[in-house]
Amino acid sequence: MTSGTAFSAADPARVLADLDRLAELTSDEQGAQRLTWSEGWYTARAWLRSELDQLPVEVEEDQAGNLWATLRGESDRSIAIGSHLDSVPAGGGLDGCLGVITGLEVLRRLAAEGTPPLTVRLCDFAEEEGDQTNEPLIGSQAVRGSLDPDRLADLVTLGGRPLPEFLREQGLELERMNEATEQLRSIEAYLEIHVEQSSVLEGRGLAVGVVTGTAGAERRLVSFHGRRDHTARPMDERADALMAAARFIAELRDLTAAHGGQALSSELNLEPNMPVIVAERADLVFDVRAYEPAEVEALKVAWRELAARIAAEERVEVTDEPRWSIDAAPFHPRLLELADAAVEEVTGTTTRLGSPQLHDAGEIALAGVPTVMLFVQSIGGISHSRDEASHRDHLEAGIRAFDLLVRRTLADLEGGPLK
Ligand SMILES: [Zn+2]
Repeated sequence: MTSGTAFSAADPARVLADLDRLAELTSDEQGAQRLTWSEGWYTARAWLRSELDQLPVEVEEDQAGNLWATLRGESDRSIAIGSHLDSVPAGGGLDGCLGVITGLEVLRRLAAEGTPPLTVRLCDFAEEEGDQTNEPLIGSQAVRGSLDPDRLADLVTLGGRPLPEFLREQGLELERMNEATEQLRSIEAYLEIHVEQSSVLEGRGLAVGVVTGTAGAERRLVSFHGRRDHTARPMDERADALMAAARFIAELRDLTAAHGGQALSSELNLEPNMPVIVAERADLVFDVRAYEPAEVEALKVAWRELAARIAAEERVEVTDEPRWSIDAAPFHPRLLELADAAVEEVTGTTTRLGSPQLHDAGEIALAGVPTVMLFVQSIGGISHSRDEASHRDHLEAGIRAFDLLVRRTLADLEGGPLK
């Protein structure tokens, strides 16, 4: 730090106490209740503001409802840290809020040291989970400037309200939300800590890992069209839509694994869906995810070839429709190095893993801001559940490593933009 005051460090115990306090305020027996724009979420926001009020920061909300706290540095060049306070209904005690509260603690540490060399901004993104309308990452999409107001205008909230009308009551205009992208203007790096929500780190026996990026995904509806028939017909003469779908599900898993990714088949509807009748139609929703943009592109071709081959072998036709997609967001090579060094210094070792699930950090990376995330091990990989938990010493290690990563990133940026 340049102000000449002594080095200090973020205090993990204070982060854990704040997590407990937030849980007291916004959780019940079922878990965390911080659905975006609900009473619990507003309570969480008010608590965060009361903590920020004790720091020399400027607090504002942008056009998408994201909250920003800015600690002015010696330069207007800035870095951002953050995550999301919103939770799924009956969610866990760490998902999202770990990143916001660790960021709050890092601001406390920086403010105590004096004036940081660059400006540091904490962001609490709005509606990361997407449970109001099944549209995730609303706040961070707006910061990227990629929200599609026309598409979102047709969405309906959990309470059955049209989204534009609902947002207006929260003081937000759907058509203006992408103006939040001006927040990115001077941001040269974005850092986030989050619980893993899966079991890779537990499998490796490690507390903290460096995330290489968020996965690109393509979700489609694929329909196999066969011929309704009596099941008495010899098997090699049937045009069995269900058999085609079943083969597709199994082979898609292996195909996606060969591209370093993950496949998910989540919905299957049959017509008819009865004993002794060969199904004439099987509608299947699947998604394929991978981390390298080239692998995602390869999968978009490969799944189609697989469906066509199976359809031919099973004497059925195949059609498909797009459902949803997102680009892979690889994180920044220099920040990955800095994150590895910080994790290794704190835990004695480091490891890298991809994030199959979406995060605000992915949107910020796709906006062109150098980005990296740390994951803290989740016990049993459980998340989006009140049983979500991490070992206390793993959380402490993650918080320390993140604080060190912020320090190192600021030092690196003092020499110029990241390379
Ligand atoms: Zn989250």
